Amino acid sequence: MCGIVGYIGNKNCVPILINGLKRLEYRGYDSAGIGILTDDNAIIVKQKGKVSLLEEKIEELNLYSNIGIGHTRWATHGIPNEMNAHPHSNNDGTLFLIHNGIIENFHVLKKGLLKLGYQFKSETDSEVIVHLIDSFLKKGFDLTKSVQLALNEVEGTYGLAIVYSKEPDKIVVARKGSPLVVGIGDGENFVASDVSAILAYTKQVIYLEDGEVAILKKDSFSAKTIYDKEIEKEVHEITMSLDEIDRGGYAHFMLKEIMEQPETVRNSIRGRIIDEDGTSILGGLSDVVNELTDSKRILITACGTSWHAGLVGEYMFEQFCRIPTEVEYASEFRYRNPIIEKNDAIFFISQSGETADTLAAMREAKMKGALVLGICNVVGSSIARETNAGVYTHAGPEIGVASTKAFTSQLTVLALITLLIARRKNLSRVDGKTIADELKLIPEKIEKILKLNNEIEKIAEEFKDATNFLYLGRGYNFPVALEGALKMKEISYIHAEGYPAAEMKHGPIALIDENMPVVFIAPKDSTYEKIISNIQEVKARGGRIIAIANEDDNEIDKLVDYTIKVPQTIRMLMPILTVIPLQLLAYHIAVKKGLNVDQPRNLAKSVTVE
Ligand code: GLU
Repeated sequence: MCGIVGYIGNKNCVPILINGLKRLEYRGYDSAGIGILTDDNAIIVKQKGKVSLLEEKIEELNLYSNIGIGHTRWATHGIPNEMNAHPHSNNDGTLFLIHNGIIENFHVLKKGLLKLGYQFKSETDSEVIVHLIDSFLKKGFDLTKSVQLALNEVEGTYGLAIVYSKEPDKIVVARKGSPLVVGIGDGENFVASDVSAILAYTKQVIYLEDGEVAILKKDSFSAKTIYDKEIEKEVHEITMSLDEIDRGGYAHFMLKEIMEQPETVRNSIRGRIIDEDGTSILGGLSDVVNELTDSKRILITACGTSWHAGLVGEYMFEQFCRIPTEVEYASEFRYRNPIIEKNDAIFFISQSGETADTLAAMREAKMKGALVLGICNVVGSSIARETNAGVYTHAGPEIGVASTKAFTSQLTVLALITLLIARRKNLSRVDGKTIADELKLIPEKIEKILKLNNEIEKIAEEFKDATNFLYLGRGYNFPVALEGALKMKEISYIHAEGYPAAEMKHGPIALIDENMPVVFIAPKDSTYEKIISNIQEVKARGGRIIAIANEDDNEIDKLVDYTIKVPQTIRMLMPILTVIPLQLLAYHIAVKKGLNVDQPRNLAKSVTVE
């Protein structure tokens, strides 16, 4: 999720590590740390908060070393504090490592390691890896072999850099599902999660692939798979500018984050589905799962995009859990002395976990004795800390002000919560399994939609001068209409409204003429015929129509001006797919208007004021 940098050579690694970490800061993080070897001793310095604070701490220590690794952490397991920051070391302090990603089976591994007598200092999933590697070192294997053997037992994602004081001539690195790049220098080598951390020192790089382990010495590089197969790696020359690299080669963070969604949704699902039972497992809710299942009413409270996610959640909870659900703006909820009954469960959704209105609403509900639950992206954030329980979305840091990947991850988590509750109530194993299987297919379906980027850009060209937009959808796709309109407003400054499609005739229809583009979200579901009638009504009044429809729908093309085709899935998951073209449409229109997409005027990423 966050940043890795490492150095081995003849220079002092400490300033190189600090510079590298500073280059990685833009990605967002909550703590940082470095680990170095001096005369075969390991020294680890960690700090909560900014790299500059870590730097101050390091300056006082006057450190020198030719080998070291540094990390910026974006917590997934365990709050951001010094103890949970990386590097993590083994019990005798001879081995230390940094890790990006999530270890799915860390509970099982930890249990085994505790039995063997290992002591854990942190709450992270990452710490199991260092003890696991240690257990193989203790059996007499060398570092590389121990890393390979350990990784054969690990499930999940990792970018890893590992240093062992008894083999001080090397850094062993490994990758699965988390980026890692090796920089080749003259008598020195580097490793980083992102080339921007090492570009000041070398432009020659080797990209590691999933399942590969590399051994960096100061004047050599070699790579193997975790199954010990030797591999030849190609050296690439970096031609991108630093600025481009920071955004993963994309023009804006927003586009990068839209494009990341197959991976971020995968991360939200990771390790949370139990196939054989057709249900989910959400560690953060385990203590309250009975109370939640027995709740008589669910309330969902949020602001902005998270509120839209909540509306989709309402449809999911009512359809599958059969629990009456209400969604409310946090700002309204907190001021109207809400009626909270004994068996109410209240979810608070916030990407940052710091949204002022949502936080205040949560405190109010907690005071009134409700079961308060968080759905947040930022681990250890105020809402995450103060709620009774909750689920993290694991979408990784979101930099673009207009939320994209956080939204699809919120929907994914709501679907997982639905599975958890519904399976404990009326949902059959077979039906639960259908939902779980469909959920697992969502990332590749998103990949397919993202391939339409150029096509959507052309549509954006046609509509970039519009001054109004109407978005219409029904059922699960009504909140998507709201979210599509919000994206358009936020970054392109075009006035846009979302409505349930049937509401059109109760007012908005008066606005329709040839200057009013209308976006219909019209996948094939039980309301399809009705939405086709709404399309006819708009067409009859000269409106220009963009439809988001299913791939096999050839009829709709005849009725509308533009169609964007998305794959089919079950109704409850459709919003995760239908919102993607709307994000891209808003993005391209804003870019064509020359606007600041990542930092739209008057908006802040985390709304910490009322
Ligand atoms: N899962 C690890 C942790 O929570 C790594 C987080 C990261 O990638 O920064 O410490």
